[in-house]
Amino acid sequence: MNPIDHTHDPAARSWLASANAPGGDFPIQNLPFGVLRRRGSDEAFRGAVAIGDQALDLAALHGHGALAGDAADALALAAQPTLNDFMAAGPRAWRALRHALFAALRDDAAPRVQAVLRSCLIPLAEVEHALPTRIGDYTDFYTSIHHAINVGRLLFPGNPLTPNFQWLPIAYHGRASSVVVSGTDFYRPHGQAMPPGAAAPVYTPCTRLDYELEMAFFIGPGNALGKPVALSEAEQRIFGMALLNDWSARDHQFWEMAPLGPFLGKNFCTSLSPWIVTLDALAPYRVPFERPAGDPQPLAYLDDAGNRASGGVDVQLTVHIESAQHRARSLPAAEVSRTSFKHQYWTVAQMLTQHTVGGCNLQPGDLCGTGTVSGPTPEEAGALVELSVGGTQPIALAGTGEQRAFLHDGDRVILRGWCERAGAARIGFGECSGTVLPAA
Ligand code: MN
Repeated sequence: MNPIDHTHDPAARSWLASANAPGGDFPIQNLPFGVLRRRGSDEAFRGAVAIGDQALDLAALHGHGALAGDAADALALAAQPTLNDFMAAGPRAWRALRHALFAALRDDAAPRVQAVLRSCLIPLAEVEHALPTRIGDYTDFYTSIHHAINVGRLLFPGNPLTPNFQWLPIAYHGRASSVVVSGTDFYRPHGQAMPPGAAAPVYTPCTRLDYELEMAFFIGPGNALGKPVALSEAEQRIFGMALLNDWSARDHQFWEMAPLGPFLGKNFCTSLSPWIVTLDALAPYRVPFERPAGDPQPLAYLDDAGNRASGGVDVQLTVHIESAQHRARSLPAAEVSRTSFKHQYWTVAQMLTQHTVGGCNLQPGDLCGTGTVSGPTPEEAGALVELSVGGTQPIALAGTGEQRAFLHDGDRVILRGWCERAGAARIGFGECSGTVLPAA
């Protein structure tokens, strides 16, 4: 797995004061990648790294010729309007650039170097993002056993877990064209739903609109068609992770998804956080892959010592809902869920290997969702359909006391994620948000 080195030293400080603020998402140990330009401008989008309350413009840095060797080659790729070529370059290139940026941002960097980097900073408050890659394909997994049981109970009370769940990471092929970057609002979708007890379906704006708290991972170097990726190699093909909201129209979804899986219930919008935290940055927060006693152990191709030792990642996650009333009364958004990614039943490496084992080729910049992240207790559920038990037990929003079985127009959903551990720096993912607009 990814080595822990000097770039993870919790004592490291940047000459940029905001990067050293306690509780911040973007200290010098993080260095996540995204794509942006100045908000409201017609500048070209380009690669950037978040540091403190600033974005380091990698195209500007490339223009200065500030780096040398492998790091300079990697910088040229990361400065492009999408990160596909940088992701294709692989772990050596990613690490060379990480190490060079760390050295240049650290408080002991030469004044001349500091001056060059300072000239490439743009306040995060003044940027707008684009999707970080040209997403060729998007696959969404279904790897939380708690989510699978919670949702399965609503559909098949006696037999909530499908027989395959504990043997393989299940997924469906999603829609890449409707993946949007955080902050993009979307219309409540129309579709077919079968009301309970009705003889025929109705065509209706969604009445059971939901979010799904998920993480995402981006493919680095791809694999050739017909050439599966072994589990031991899988993490070399993963660039990093982000937050993902797989918005779901439950009434449409539950009517349409048998027997081929989600279609319009999922393809109207999927939101992605703007910053990708690399697997290098996540190294200190890795946790063992564990299976409860009595559960089936993975088949050999989905099992190895490395994955067992540190295949998991402990990412703390929250979901907040900010209603129109919260905004009107200037109240903070209501937290509705809090859990960790460490509870997933399958690891990202197992997901990638499963995806390729039949020969499917993954390409640089492809996007995979992990499926809804729900923890072991009811409050840790990552979707409203679980929290409200299929809509039968609405939850109350802190601040306003409003009831929510599903999302209302004007609701903004905010996902956040961060990693924290004794002996390591706290790093964060920023946020992934989107607001529900009334049906068009
Ligand atoms: Mn999903």
